[in-house]
Amino acid sequence: MNASSTPSRRRVVIIGCGFGGLEAAKALSTEAVDITLIDRTNHHLFQPLLYQVATAGLTAPAISGPIRHILRKEMARGNLTVLLGEVKTIDAQARQVTLAGGEQVPYDELIVAAGATHSYFGNDQWAAHAPGLKTLADAFDIRRRVLTAFERAELSSDPVEREQCLTFAVIGAGPTGVEMAGTMVEIARHTLSREFRNIDSRRARVVLIEGAPRVLGAFPEDLSQRAREQLVDLGVEVLTGAQVTDIGPTGLSYQTRAKTADGSERLESHRLPTRTIVWAAGVAGSPLGRELARSTGCNLDRAGRVLVQPDLSLAGHPEIQVVGDLASAKSYLDPQAPTPVPGVSPAAKQMGRRAAKNLLHRMKGRETKPFVYADYGSLATIGRKAAIAMVDMPVFGRVKFSGFSAWLFWLFVHIYFLIGFRNRLFVMWDWAWAYFTAQRNARVVPDAPTPSTLPEHGGSRQAA
Ligand SMILES: Cc1cc2nc3c(=O)[nH]c(=O)nc-3n(C[C@H](O)[C@H](O)[C@H](O)COP(=O)(O)OP(=O)(O)OC[C@H]3O[C@@H](n4cnc5c(N)ncnc54)[C@H](O)[C@@H]3O)c2cc1C
Repeated sequence: MNASSTPSRRRVVIIGCGFGGLEAAKALSTEAVDITLIDRTNHHLFQPLLYQVATAGLTAPAISGPIRHILRKEMARGNLTVLLGEVKTIDAQARQVTLAGGEQVPYDELIVAAGATHSYFGNDQWAAHAPGLKTLADAFDIRRRVLTAFERAELSSDPVEREQCLTFAVIGAGPTGVEMAGTMVEIARHTLSREFRNIDSRRARVVLIEGAPRVLGAFPEDLSQRAREQLVDLGVEVLTGAQVTDIGPTGLSYQTRAKTADGSERLESHRLPTRTIVWAAGVAGSPLGRELARSTGCNLDRAGRVLVQPDLSLAGHPEIQVVGDLASAKSYLDPQAPTPVPGVSPAAKQMGRRAAKNLLHRMKGRETKPFVYADYGSLATIGRKAAIAMVDMPVFGRVKFSGFSAWLFWLFVHIYFLIGFRNRLFVMWDWAWAYFTAQRNARVVPDAPTPSTLPEHGGSRQAA
């Protein structure tokens, strides 16, 4: 496949050009190996800002870039080939991967960085009514649903339908659910507030539903409580301890636990009529995890992520490494008490770099090193001027803060980590504009179906 490869050089195949794959490719491009980087899309995506595309705040090119352009300097070195294609099978015995079109790409070393996908916990039929947010296509789909729900409400003369259209549900109060809910309220209360005649968009309800007892459960309890207060201040209805039991075209059902007079607990069933539901509740490893398990016999965790060795390789297959969200990895800062690595972009980047280094160690006959995750803290945005932060600062150690200062900090961190000077400039401008005007610049939905022909739910996806 790689026409420029020299037979004596090791052939490295990297699957996926997200955070993990990109870092691995960059790190190896200066070495005497021939790299083939395969991705099913032509772009690298900055997922942490995907919710901004889904809520019409940013356009797609502001948070993504063509892989060939991002890696142009590395490609100029002559040992990196980029292929647009979806890997379907991995043959660990023959050491080759096969793409959807049947093309075969042989390897000596394989780095799998295919990321994660949505999990509906065995209820895949919910996907049609409650899309998740992972790709640009997902973001376009959600943006269309949110914006056209207001259009449908404006058009409808049926009060029940209008109520359904003006109720938005977000399932799952992790970082994605929280930022989606906070921003949807902003759209209803500020962006659209003077643009309709028959409806008052400010009356729209945004309901955030979480099965656990608190929002942003990965944060300490005090920050989680601050996040809840900020959500409520913005106008989000927060339901915790609520288990979704069914999702359909005109609403969802959920259960809560209630105390009875004798002190025991009973389940109460509720119904939320709504036409727009966003799924932010479950994550599963890419299907390539199952493919690796089939081909190598490696084990998967309950979320379908690949259980890797301390050095990120597979047991019995040192030539295969798995990094990023697809890896169920541990950090060996303390080798006696390894800790689970979270599914976040800094971890994926660090794993990508570690995999590249370990690959070179092995080539030189040296020992590989276990992965150690350098955790600098966590941030979550909630909406305009609202966020929580837990950050390691020199001298002060771990500092927790929330509100406007955390939001500003979140803003600058995300601009800093965006790829490309042009993107940073555009995002900064768009956010400044949105801050002062409450306007969102990416509201054009191409070829949107007219509200009367809108699918009840689960309509076809549209790219933009
Ligand atoms: C909405 C959202 C918000 C997030 N917010 C934050 C945040 O604020 N902070 C943070 O640190 N992290 C955040 N994350 C998590 C972070 O984005 C991930 O941890 C990170 O992207 C993982 O990197 P990765 O390289 O493992 O996978 P990804 O970045 O997902 O990349 C996987 C790549 O593999 C490609 N691919 C998949 N399957 C195949 C195949 N079969 N063949 C070829 N190519 C394939 C995909 O196209 C993709 O380019 C967020 C994630 C999401 C979805």
